[in-house]
Amino acid sequence: MAGLYVHIPFCHSKCSYCDFYSGLRPNVVEDYIDALIAELHLRKNEMSESFTTIYFGGGTPSILPIEELKRLINAINLAIDTNRVEEFTIEVNPEDINKDILRNYRELGINRVSIGVQSFNDNLLKSINRCHTSKQALNAIKYLKNDNWNYSADLMFGLPGQTIKDWRYDVDTLMRMHPPHFSAYLLSYEPGTRLYTMLQAGKVEEASEQIASEMQLIITTVATEYGYEHYEISNYSLPDRHSRHNSAYWAMTPYLGLGASAHSFDGKLRRINPANIKQYLNALKQGEIVATIEEETISEQFNDYIITGLRTINGLSLDILKQYFPDKYIAKMLDNAAPLITSGQLILNDNRLYIPHLYWLKSDAIMRDLILI
Ligand code: SF4
Repeated sequence: MAGLYVHIPFCHSKCSYCDFYSGLRPNVVEDYIDALIAELHLRKNEMSESFTTIYFGGGTPSILPIEELKRLINAINLAIDTNRVEEFTIEVNPEDINKDILRNYRELGINRVSIGVQSFNDNLLKSINRCHTSKQALNAIKYLKNDNWNYSADLMFGLPGQTIKDWRYDVDTLMRMHPPHFSAYLLSYEPGTRLYTMLQAGKVEEASEQIASEMQLIITTVATEYGYEHYEISNYSLPDRHSRHNSAYWAMTPYLGLGASAHSFDGKLRRINPANIKQYLNALKQGEIVATIEEETISEQFNDYIITGLRTINGLSLDILKQYFPDKYIAKMLDNAAPLITSGQLILNDNRLYIPHLYWLKSDAIMRDLILI
């Protein structure tokens, strides 16, 4: 089983927290789709397994004119065997969604939508430069619900000036819509973003650890009451509605990534396309692929497994670690884990090591203690 990821690096405007590779380049959309198709033909045999998930991410894939999207999906269907694809997700922004677009998506074989809501508070949306309103998000979710879509909605917490009451409103509003799946991300201030510059200049304040923890506790508690499973640090799902594509990333399943800045992983090698659309387009016009290839050492693979495993409710399986990694790595990791187990920040049970929900916001620090230097 393998995943296909396609990166669409175009957006209507740049959100002030965003460090994804994306820009406002609608004039090169056709050339970009040509390049994606060319890259697909050059690389379609890289994966030996069948594709079971497809994910169009970005950027904002819903910015694509439907004819261009159709051209791309037709090319994918011709180039690879898509008969075993169970989940085909497209990321969308609320302002792009209406009944006609959703009907087109369904006709093209897309069966899951991931919608970037972030907040139902218009002032907070403005403060992070989102270009949709709360009303547009509510309408888009209504279309998805009425049409019986499998969909996921993204929310963010710890936004500048966001109070506990604001967050409670966002959580309650989303719960009333009862999406099959949702993600809740703590805002992080990434260097190079507008929000980071504002933070440095003292124009915004980062949410305190106490507020962030309280917000995390609210969403986790309320989501549990509504029947969701908190199955990954930022992800919640109703039974059997986990994101198959993302779960495969966390299980280190191979994936082929197409497009500027896309990553691929074949089980051993990681391949990273340039985060530079000009370079990407020029190379593909010449029929060439430009990518940086990283062969991971066994200790890097071990660290990756720890980081991805500890993000999830299942945690790390010591049995799987023993199958793939030297005993001395596992012994060292368990030595480092001992004080964290004693303090309750890690639980070792049934040959499984995992972070209890209460400490998921501290998971970065916990993982740092466990990985091999
Ligand atoms: S829409 Fe998404 S990808 Fe585009 S700027 Fe905003 S957060 Fe980044």
